Amino acid sequence: MAEMATDPVCKMQVDPQKSVSSSYKGQTYYFCCDACKTSFEKEPQKYVGA
Ligand SMILES: [Zn+2]
Repeated sequence: MAEMATDPVCKMQVDPQKSVSSSYKGQTYYFCCDACKTSFEKEPQKYVGA
């Protein structure tokens, strides 16, 4: 089974191969859908801490 990533917004397990991603402070985050990505990009510090 492929390595899974955790969507930082909704905490769902997502497949990095099939999900949308965003980079923040040199790290790549994966999301289940565009809505989660949009939420993250609005306030990334809310989801990953300072
Ligand atoms: Zn999500």
